[in-house]
Amino acid sequence: MSIKEKLFSKTPYFIQNSAIALFNNYQYKMRHGGVYNAFRDYYARAELMNEFELHREIDAKKNEFFNYVEAKSPWYKNYNFNEFQSLPILEKSDVINKLALIQTIDEKDGVISLTGGTTGASMKVVYTKSDMQERFAILDHFRAKHGYELGKKTAWFSGKNLISEKHLKKNICSHYDFLNKIKFYSTFHINQKNFDTYWKSLNKFQPEFIVGFPSSVYEICKIADKKGLKLKRKVKVFFPTAETVLPEHRKLIAKVMGCKTVDQYASSEGAPFILECAAGSLHIHPLTGIFEVVDENLKPSLEGEMLVTSFTTHGTPLIRYRIGDGIKLAPSNIKCDCGSSFPLVERIDGRTTDYVLSPTHGKVNLGNISNSTKNIEGIVKFQVIQSSLDKVKVLIVSNDSFTQAQSQKFKAALEERFGPKLLIEVELVEEITKEKSGKFRLVKNLLGSKNV
Ligand SMILES: [Zn+2]
Repeated sequence: MSIKEKLFSKTPYFIQNSAIALFNNYQYKMRHGGVYNAFRDYYARAELMNEFELHREIDAKKNEFFNYVEAKSPWYKNYNFNEFQSLPILEKSDVINKLALIQTIDEKDGVISLTGGTTGASMKVVYTKSDMQERFAILDHFRAKHGYELGKKTAWFSGKNLISEKHLKKNICSHYDFLNKIKFYSTFHINQKNFDTYWKSLNKFQPEFIVGFPSSVYEICKIADKKGLKLKRKVKVFFPTAETVLPEHRKLIAKVMGCKTVDQYASSEGAPFILECAAGSLHIHPLTGIFEVVDENLKPSLEGEMLVTSFTTHGTPLIRYRIGDGIKLAPSNIKCDCGSSFPLVERIDGRTTDYVLSPTHGKVNLGNISNSTKNIEGIVKFQVIQSSLDKVKVLIVSNDSFTQAQSQKFKAALEERFGPKLLIEVELVEEITKEKSGKFRLVKNLLGSKNV
C-alpha cells in the first residue's frame, strides 16, 4: 500500500465510500465535459461513413495530428512525416527518459496517466483534456453498443489496493460508489479463503456488467465452478481491461457469470483502439490511429509486434511507438458479418515479453502455456518464471484434487511445450504475488531484453 492508500484505510468505511463516490463524480465530469459530447456524435457518425468518406476523415485526423506535433514537440521537430515508414521508432525508454522533450503541454494543464512499464519502471504520460474526453467518448460509444451506460450496476475489478485485512475480517471486499452504482472489488485478495465474501457480495449486488482484469474474474469463476456454483442472476457483458483475454477465460466466465466477454485493446499510455463488434470480431478503429505490424526485422508483417501512432496523444505524442504487444491481422479480403469495413484483427497476443524461451522450441507463447492445465484437476493458478535459458520455475497454487498423478500430468504437458532441454522446477505455494498494478502475470520472463 502507498502512503495515500494507508491513510485512506484508516478512515471509516462509509466515509471511504463517500470519498470514492465524490472522486469518481469529479473524474466523470472532467472526462465527460468539454468536447466529449461532440466526439460521441462523431464516433457514432463514423460508423455510417462510406469508404471514401472514411479515408478522407483518416487523412484529416492524421494531418491535424502531425501538424500539431511538428509545431509543438521538440522531440519530433526534425521529423519528415511525409516519409512515415522511415521515421525512427519511439521506445518505452524514450518516453521514460525524454518525456520533457516529447510532451507538448505542462503537467498542470493536462491529465497525468501512470502506467507500469514491462521492466517494472513506472511510466508517465500527460494527456490534453480534450484527448482524454475523446478517448472516453470512443470507449463509452463502444460499451453503449453492447448495452452499457453509466448508472447500470457494475462490478469493477481493477485498480488500487484499498481493501485491508480489517475489511476482510468484516466480510468486506469492495468499495461502493453509490452515486454511479459501481462496486470496486479488490483484485489483491481473491483466493479460496476470501471466496465466500466475494461470492456473497456479487450475488447480493447482482451486477449487470463487469469491467476489469480477466485474470481476477477468471479466478473467482474457477473457485465457483469447482464448487458447482453459478451466479443467481446472470451478468450481461464482461468488458476486460489491461490483460490478454484467453479462450479459457471467455468459456469459464460465460459458464459461471452467464455473460459474454467483449474485448477491447487500448492502453494507459494512449494507444489507438481495437474494439470487438457485435459479431464477435476485433476491428482496428482507423480514426484513432495507425497500427503497423512488423516482424523481428521490423519489416511489415501480418503477425508480430505492433508500432502504434495514436491521434489522441497530443499531450505526449506517440508516433511509431513500440508498445510491446503483439497481434495477428486477418487477411484483408475477409469481411466481417457486422458490415463494418474497419480492418480486422485475428487475435491480440498481449505482451511480446510474456513467453518462455526454449532451447529446442523457441518462443512458447502465453496462449500455449495457459492451455497446459487442460484436463488437469486441482490447479487454482500457476505462474511460470524464467530467469535463465536452461530452466523455468513453476509456482502452483493447488487444492485437494491436485494429486501426485495430476502433478505429473501437468509437468508432462509443460515438457511437451517447452521441449526436453528446459528443466522444470515445480514449487507448490500458498499464494502468487501480483504485480503492483494488481494485474496477474502468468508468465514472467526475466531473461532481459538481449533475448527478446
Ligand atoms: Zn465486425
